[in-house]
Amino acid sequence: MSDKLYDHIFIGAGPISILEALSKKAEGKSVLVIDRAARIGGAWGTTILPNGEDVEIGCHIWSISKPVFRFIDNYLELDMKPLKPQPVIYKNGKDIQYDWKSNVLTMRRMLTNLKHGQLKRLIIDWKSPAYRVAFIPSKYLYPVKGASTFSKALETKARQHDLTVLLKTEIEEIRDQGEYVDIITTDGSSTRCKEVHITSVSNVGRYSTPSKSFTPKLNVSNFIHVHFELSDAQGKKISYVRWVEDDVIHRISDITNQAKSDVERLIIVGVYQEAYESSSEEELQKRIMVKLRENNFIGESTALTNWQFNIFPTNYMDRAEFDSIEDAFNGKLKILPSTDLIYGMHHRLKDWNRLLLSSGK
Ligand SMILES: Cc1cc2nc3c(=O)[nH]c(=O)nc-3n(C[C@H](O)[C@H](O)[C@H](O)COP(=O)(O)OP(=O)(O)OC[C@H]3O[C@@H](n4cnc5c(N)ncnc54)[C@H](O)[C@@H]3O)c2cc1C
Repeated sequence: MSDKLYDHIFIGAGPISILEALSKKAEGKSVLVIDRAARIGGAWGTTILPNGEDVEIGCHIWSISKPVFRFIDNYLELDMKPLKPQPVIYKNGKDIQYDWKSNVLTMRRMLTNLKHGQLKRLIIDWKSPAYRVAFIPSKYLYPVKGASTFSKALETKARQHDLTVLLKTEIEEIRDQGEYVDIITTDGSSTRCKEVHITSVSNVGRYSTPSKSFTPKLNVSNFIHVHFELSDAQGKKISYVRWVEDDVIHRISDITNQAKSDVERLIIVGVYQEAYESSSEEELQKRIMVKLRENNFIGESTALTNWQFNIFPTNYMDRAEFDSIEDAFNGKLKILPSTDLIYGMHHRLKDWNRLLLSSGK
């Protein structure tokens, strides 16, 4: 056990945790970040393809918030560009503007608030970037070279500010000892802090306080994607497609620009877990190629040069269980918002602008 008592320990080195940890450090606090993964970035990772290309692991998209984009530009100095063409929802053979998803969601939410007379809630929601009505299509931005440049920018900031990040270290238990909290790893060693920060995907086996103990039930989701290296660039030009009402494919991303070599076209297809489990990878790959061809996402003669499936397991804890754990720790355990990157960042932006930007850091 280390004798050091940290002010803050963060479980997970994903983007929200890293930025929050940097903001605590900017306040002069002692901070430690721990992740079981071998690198910083959380869900914004890469995978190595059979041809050696190191590219985005899945189909990613950034939601819209201009203040968050300004922060990313100013603080992380990331090269972001509007997706070209802009993302679409693909339904019954037709492309629908991606904003329609948020238009429908916003209308529904506002009507529910009005119906239940929740005016305070209505004002809060109206200020949130998650609820917006876009009559003129908004511009969806994304890092030019994909998620890996985003993770690298976070790594650079962590290094520049001497943020201590302990990688390849898994946390098994978080134990409230009254005055402080013990963070216990799977190999039994422990580190102390005054406040611990977790995210909704922090997969910790046990949380205990002097009077209560929780062994949370985790909902496991496997995100399955397949990378297709194609022989030509024929077919519809896309950036990100959310495919609805299909039983196999739910998303497609074109990431040709992330490949360093002369790959003609590189796309990622997001696949439903049930479809993946019901056939072999070989059969599923063929089925996906037929669907892509029939829907003109690839050309009639486009052939497959290379392909690779990857599975990204994630565990989510129920919100109600989270709330009970947070209550039991009496302010010593905090849960970071982490379901959508841009909206999650939006929640913390006021503090980050003050602590990370105003001092020229
Ligand atoms: C497959 C997938 C795709 C996603 N796609 C999008 C998208 O397209 N757009 C979007 O806006 N958001 C997306 N998200 C949501 C994503 O969670 C957020 O965008 C953002 O990454 C949240 O950042 P974070 O710091 O909260 O943690 P995350 O990025 O979720 O990282 C959590 C980290 O915690 C670590 N960890 C968990 N348990 C332990 C433990 N016991 N011990 C040590 N380390 C632990 C994990 O290894 C991981 O690195 C996606 C999430 C997943 C899982």
